[in-house]
Formats: sequence, structure tokens, C-alpha cells
Amino acid sequence: MNDILPGVSATWQYLEGVVREIVTSYGYDEIRLPLLEQTELFKRSIGEVTDIVEKEMYTFEDRGGESLTLRPEATAGMVRAGISNGLLHNQRQKLWTAGPMFRRERPQRGRYRQFHQFDVEALGFDGPDVDAELIIMSSRIWSRLGISRLRLEINSLGTSAARARYRETLVEYFSNVKDQLDRDSIRRLDQNPLRILDSKNPEMQPLIEAAPVMLDHLDAESSEHFDALRELLDAAGVAYSVNPRLVRGLDYYSRTVFEWVTDALGSQGAVCSGGRYDGLVERLGGRPTPAIGWAMGIERFVDLYEACGGKTPDAVADAYVVAVGDGALVEAFAMAEDLRDRIPDVRVEVNLGGGSFKSQLKRADRSNATFALILGEQEIEGHSVGVKPLRSGGEQISVPRDELATTLGTLMANEAPAERRGDE
Ligand code: ATP
Ligand code: MG
Repeated sequence: MNDILPGVSATWQYLEGVVREIVTSYGYDEIRLPLLEQTELFKRSIGEVTDIVEKEMYTFEDRGGESLTLRPEATAGMVRAGISNGLLHNQRQKLWTAGPMFRRERPQRGRYRQFHQFDVEALGFDGPDVDAELIIMSSRIWSRLGISRLRLEINSLGTSAARARYRETLVEYFSNVKDQLDRDSIRRLDQNPLRILDSKNPEMQPLIEAAPVMLDHLDAESSEHFDALRELLDAAGVAYSVNPRLVRGLDYYSRTVFEWVTDALGSQGAVCSGGRYDGLVERLGGRPTPAIGWAMGIERFVDLYEACGGKTPDAVADAYVVAVGDGALVEAFAMAEDLRDRIPDVRVEVNLGGGSFKSQLKRADRSNATFALILGEQEIEGHSVGVKPLRSGGEQISVPRDELATTLGTLMANEAPAERRGDE
């Protein structure tokens, strides 16, 4: 679990802001969900025989003896909220949420025990159109941010009936090579053979490569759905490859699944993953409701953005107010408030803790502010302020107090226009 330190948090805020803006532009609304849910919710939705439920959940009993779990993902809570708030009765929902998730995995680069996701879900939509929209939306995020080192893989898992038939074929195949399976896979052979395909054990990969694939067992309807999705992606110019071995680690998926993967981050290559879960709402006690969504890992997203050369707009102060002498602090506060009133997004720091002129100016310099605004006895008497550029090495000028906001606004625009826009 990581502390996200100042400096790093600026990048997070910037990227989260861009994602928020883009999903909003497609008409998706925010929903905020609890971090804790009843354990049963995750067991029923994610599935008992999955890595998450078997070994990764943070589960505990509260003082009333109820079993609760820190959410390992957002979809289950989203569906629970949809049902318990009646959001799915004769309505369709396009929703997003973001925040921390918890899985007790083996920590390594890109894999943490508290990590963060941006999560988008569309509930009540049946057709391949929404599948395409969600994928196109994610693609827009990458292109907007200049992230290029990602490729899209898609697959179809078919309806649950088709999966049941495929399951028999798989069981037969893996039973014939049972002596080569690892312990997890042997256990899964009875309970959940599809999970074997999602194994991360390298020794299992040759067997998995040679296994029969779901795409060859698709039902006609899922097949049509998949073709229509591909057509929409082709028309939108979103490149993809079909990966018949993509199954995803959670039980609730059906039909379309997809994953954006990168080779820029070592072995933790999945940046954004999603799929359809048409049966989940009903399984959790709601009326049958088709649904689809994706989740992006924010840590991996931030890493990838930086690996692709992405920069974060500078968050240093525009001005640092140096105030020396009787009454200077009162003036300094009033002046800073006035600037914050009048210049949008300005960042002004007032020197705190007093000090000599020299030591305050040193702090101004260390703050990385663009300008020092100087209030000494002379300035206070003359209703003026000294404006000293700290970065460009220009001369200090004296500005009448009532012209400061206008002058500073102009100076700021001239000083660092590219940095302020964040596109150096
Ligand atoms: P992986 O195959 O890497 O374990 P996953 O299939 O378990 O990923 P999902 O449950 O689909 O992942 O979660 C969606 C996204 O959340 C992933 O694509 C990834 O970017 C991110 N993610 C998942 N687990 C972690 C983790 N432990 N630490 C950081 N990010 C994670
Ligand atoms: Mg995982």
C-alpha cells in the first residue's frame, strides 16, 4: 500500500481529471460507493473459485459478527447499488466511479495491495453498440494523452449455455493431461476449468496454448454480436487483435471481453480490462439486466503515461508574498485574497512564520514560485508592491496596489505560457 506523495499526486489529479472529462463527454455520471461490502457479495459475483476470493480479499468480522470485505473491485458494489437503489427498474444507467481497491497479492511493480481503479459501467444495454462505445471511449483517453504503447485484445466468451458446452470440452482436454497440471489447476478442473486458462504459471502456458478455444464453440447470437462489435471498431479506426485465450480472472463475464495491454511496464501489462456480465444483476437478486464495463488500473496508467514521455502541468506557485515590517502581514493576507478573487486558478503563497527580508526571499526562491511579491515599509506607505521575477532574472518593478491583479495576470501569461497549459 503506497503513500501517494505531493508531486506524484499532481500527476494523478491531472490524469484523473482528463479521464473524468472524457467519460463525462460520453454522458456517463459519477456514482460513489462504499469501500466495504458484505463478504457474500464478492463471493457471489466474482466467484468462489477465483484468485481474488480464494486468497486475496481483506475480510474481517465487525463487532456485530457480520463478515465484511474491503472491495477488491468495483463492479459488484456498482450492481449492488443499482439493485438496492432501484436504479435498474425500467431504466438504463451509464455510470463511472473511481477509488481504492484492495487485494492481498504478492506486491511487485504494478501490483499493489491497495491500488486504484477508474471504473465505467453501462447497465441495461444489450447490443454491441455499447461494447464499441466503451472501447472507443478508452481509446480516446490514450490518444488524448499521447499514450501509444498499448494494444487492444478482444474475445468473446459466449452465452452461459455456450460456455457450459465449452466447459465440457475443456474438462476433457485437461483431464487427458492431468499429470501435467499444477495444483491450482487440478482443483479448478472440477470447480471452474475456465480459470485454468487465466493461470499466470509459466509452466502451464504450453498446455493453455494448445487448449480448445471458446471462439470455436460460440453460439450464433454471440458470434453475431462479436462480428458487429468488430465492424464498429473497424469503422471507428480502433485497432485490435482477437485473442481467443483471453478469459479474464472473474467469473461473471459473458460474451465480449477485452483488455488494453502494454509491454512498457514489465510483466504487469494489463492497464484497462473489461467485459460484459449479462448474468450478474440477476445473480445478485435483480431482474435480468445486460451490462458491460471496464476498469483501468490508475497506478499502471500513471506509469505508462510517464513511460510514453507524458508530462504533468507544473503545480508550483505563481507568486510568493514577502511581507516585512509593521502591518505588512495584514496587508499581505488582504492582497493575496484579492489576487485569488481576481485571477482564475492563481496560486499564491503568503510567507508564514515571519523572518527577515533576506530569509523570506530565500524561501520565495525555494518555493519555485515564478514571482516574489514584496511588501516592505516603503511599499505599504506608497500603496504599491514590488514584483520580482524569480525565474527569468528580470528586474524588480514597482506596481500600484490597485493594478497588481491586472499586471500579474499579464506577466504570468508571458512568463510561462506552455507550462501553464501543460503541453510544453
Ligand atoms: P492482472 O491480470 O494484472 O492481475 P486483473 O485481471 O486481476 O489484472 P482486473 O481485476 O480486471 O485485473 O482489474 C482491472 C485493472 O486493475 C487491471 O487491468 C490492472 O490495470 C489493475 N489492477 C488489478 N490488480 C492490480 C493490483 N494488484 N495492483 C495494481 N493494479 C491492479
Ligand atoms: Mg489479478
